[in-house]
Amino acid sequence: MDIRLKSLTKSLWVFHAALSPCNNCDIEILDLLTPRYDVERFGITLIGSVRHADVLMATGVPNAKTLERFKELYSHAPQPCLVAAIGTCAGGGNMFRDSYNSPCALDEIVPVDVYIPGCPPKPEAMIAGIVKLIEKVKGQS
Ligand code: SF4
Repeated sequence: MDIRLKSLTKSLWVFHAALSPCNNCDIEILDLLTPRYDVERFGITLIGSVRHADVLMATGVPNAKTLERFKELYSHAPQPCLVAAIGTCAGGGNMFRDSYNSPCALDEIVPVDVYIPGCPPKPEAMIAGIVKLIEKVKGQS
């Protein structure tokens, strides 16, 4: 099994990338990291540098301002790096789809590994999405 892929099945380190969210998805991510849900018991922790990231948790719709920055962030992450689209905005554009400031969808910029729908999605949905992500990686390795 590829060592990098194997590492992606345990203790995922997540980096939060806000593309242009309304902040509700971001607050739910914070909720996910609180002792109430305690995802650190699975080794999941939020990190401050994309260079150490296993998963990019993207919220919001890519817009003219954030599109290039997100591509750059992704290019700095160790590869393969997983991408989770958190919320309906990141997953499909929500009500901003095809608007003047939304040139393309997230999955047209980078490969998206899991879509977690909701506006915003609950922490439980994010945990279920992370489990799917790990199962997907295990299937690839
Ligand atoms: S999916 Fe909903 S809650 Fe999340 S950033 Fe978009 S509008 Fe806000």
